[in-house]
Amino acid sequence: MADPKGFITTPRQEWPRRPVEERVRDWDEVYVPGALLPIVAKQADRCMDCGIPFCHQACPLGNLIPEWNGLVSREDWRAASERLHATNNFPEFTGRLCPAPCEAGCVLAINQPTVTIKNVECAIGDRAWEEGFTPPRPPERLSGRTVAVIGSGPTGLAAAQQLTRAGHTVAVYERDDRIGGLMRYGIPEFKMEKRHLERRIDQMRAEGTRFRTSTAVGRDVDAEELRCRYDAVVLATGATAWRELELPGRELTGVHQAMEYLPLANRVCEGDLDASPLSAAGKHVVIVGGGDTGADCLGTAIREGAASVTQLDIYAQPGAERDEEAEPWPTYPRLYRLSAAHEEARDVGAAPAADADARLFAASTLRLTGDADGRVRELHLTGVDAGRRPVPGAERTLPADLVLLALGFSGPDREDGLVGGLGLELEPRGTIARSAGFETNVPGVFAAGDAARGQSLIVWAIAEGRAVAAAVDQHLTGRPSHLPAPIGP
Ligand code: SF4
Repeated sequence: MADPKGFITTPRQEWPRRPVEERVRDWDEVYVPGALLPIVAKQADRCMDCGIPFCHQACPLGNLIPEWNGLVSREDWRAASERLHATNNFPEFTGRLCPAPCEAGCVLAINQPTVTIKNVECAIGDRAWEEGFTPPRPPERLSGRTVAVIGSGPTGLAAAQQLTRAGHTVAVYERDDRIGGLMRYGIPEFKMEKRHLERRIDQMRAEGTRFRTSTAVGRDVDAEELRCRYDAVVLATGATAWRELELPGRELTGVHQAMEYLPLANRVCEGDLDASPLSAAGKHVVIVGGGDTGADCLGTAIREGAASVTQLDIYAQPGAERDEEAEPWPTYPRLYRLSAAHEEARDVGAAPAADADARLFAASTLRLTGDADGRVRELHLTGVDAGRRPVPGAERTLPADLVLLALGFSGPDREDGLVGGLGLELEPRGTIARSAGFETNVPGVFAAGDAARGQSLIVWAIAEGRAVAAAVDQHLTGRPSHLPAPIGP
C-alpha cells in the first residue's frame, strides 16, 4: 500500500466505457483505449491488504490479489505480472470476461464500493504483453510422454499450457476451424477482441503446444484410436448440449439457439462472411434467457441494427421483494448487473415501443406464433411470481421476427461420437463422470471444465484446466506433481 488510507481518500473508478452511441456502431471493445492505465495504480491502492483476504478465497484460481494490488500501487508491473501469472495463465481473458467473484468477496463491500480487482488484473495482463513480460516458456527438457487435449476453450488451453511447460508433448484437437472454443465463436468481439486470443496461441505454439483444427474427435478421428495413441487424454470439450424451449411454435423459421446466432456474427468480424445469414438487422428480436449469453445476443443484435430487442429473464428483478415460501432464507443473492450490452439497450431505446427497459424480469414464454409462411411473428409470455407460477392477467405479446434461445447448456454433446466412442459414464445431469483425480471411468482419460463441472465461469474453466494438468502430470510421472491444483473436481 502506497497510501494506507487509499480506500478512504480515493473513490472507486472503473475503466470507462466508450459512449454508447459510438460503440454500437462498431465491434471494438467497449472500453476507452488507454484510459485504464492512468487510474489503475490509485485504484489498486484502495486495497486494505486484509489479514484474511476474502477476495483471494472467492477466486477459484486463488489469485494473490492483495499482493498484486500492492505491486500495482507501487507501479512494479514486472513483479505484479509474475505474481498474477503464478496463478492464472490468461489474466487478460479473465480481466475482460470474468464477472469477478473476487469483487463480490472484497471486504470493502461492507460499507463502500469494492476494489476494482478485475480492472487491476486486466491492466497487469495488458501491461505484461506491452512490456514483454510474457515470453514463451518452453520446457527445459521433454518427458517423452504425450497428451491429447480435446477442446481449445479456456480449460483446454490452460491444461495444454501447463502440461507443455511441464515437458509433456501436447496436441490440442479443436473441431472448429480456429482455436479458442467459446472465446472464439461465442464471446463477441466487443467483450474481448480476438487479438488477445491470438497472441496467447502464438505464445503456446512457441512453447511447443501443437494445434489440430477442424478435427472433431469422434467424427474425423476415431476416439478409441486417439486414446491408444497418447499416454493421456484430457476431455475439455465444454458443455455444448443446449437446453431447448419445448413450447408450441419452436419449429417456426426464425427461432434459433444463441450458439447458432453468435458464431455467425463472430465470423463476420473474422472476415469469413460479409453479413450473418441470421442478422437481426431490421427485425424485432426476443432473447429468451437472462444470463450472460443472452446479454451477448443483446449487444450483437443492437450492433446489427435490430428494430427492437427484448431479453426475457424468468427470475424477478434482483432487489425485488422475496417470496419467503418460494425462496426460503438463505437464498443465493442475485445482484443487479448492468452489463455493457444492457447499458446500450437502455441508452439506444432498444425495447419495443411499449417498454422502457429491454429487460423483462419474471417473464416466462408461453408459445410462439407465426405467419402463413411459417415464420415466427409473435412471442406470447406471462408474468410469474417468485415461485415461477403464472400471474393471472399478466399475459402479453411481443413482436418477434427473430427469437434467440439462451437457456444454458446441460453438458457435452452425447451424439458426437466422443462420449459413445470412449464408453464414457455420465452423471445423471449429463456431465462426464470423474473421480477425485479428474479421471473418467476410462483409464488415462481425464475430464475437466464445463464438460464435467457443468456450465460455469471462465475463471472456473481456467482453474479446471490447471487442476486437471496437475492430475495428468501425476498420472504420467507416477509421483506428486509440482503443478498447482487450485481446485478439486
Ligand atoms: Fe484488498 Fe478487498 Fe482483497 Fe481486502 S478483500 S485484500 S480490500 S481486494
